[in-house]
Amino acid sequence: MKHELNPRHLNIAAFAQAKDSLAGEEKLARFERLIEASQGLGGEAMVVYSARGELRPDAAGVDEPWVHLSAQTTVPLTCQRCLGVADVEIQFERDFRFVATEELAEVEDEESEEDVLVLSKAFDLLELIEDELLLASPLVPMHAVCPEPVKLTAADAGFDAQPEERPNPFAVLQQLKKKDAG
Ligand SMILES: [Zn+2]
Repeated sequence: MKHELNPRHLNIAAFAQAKDSLAGEEKLARFERLIEASQGLGGEAMVVYSARGELRPDAAGVDEPWVHLSAQTTVPLTCQRCLGVADVEIQFERDFRFVATEELAEVEDEESEEDVLVLSKAFDLLELIEDELLLASPLVPMHAVCPEPVKLTAADAGFDAQPEERPNPFAVLQQLKKKDAG
């Protein structure tokens, strides 16, 4: 029988070594920052995810732990055109390489195309999924087609001219992320 893996406390080295995989789903309500972005809406929607571990040799032939991660969900966001609620589908698929220390991760994350994170015996995979879903969210969420007619001239003219009343949480996060990286 397959052992149970806890996505909130994942031993990354063991997961990669065993070429293990993990898939599951979790209610949107369990992701604090996503549910904040939806202003409390859509808590019953599911975040569906899957992760696969593997070892890949680095340039010197030393095996390094990698995790291939993907997730998908639908978040109700405020449409920036009609200000109604738009169900926005968000997904990502990324590879993460894990190194031993924070210092190494910082240096190598800048030099590498892939994302570099710090190895942990109790890694919170769901927190990483939430980070990535937030980053994959549109900066300006909109309906493909707004359900109610919008006065295009007013919307177009007002869009760039008016400052947003409250900062877009995704924009704030991306700025933070940029600061971190720089
Ligand atoms: Zn709309």
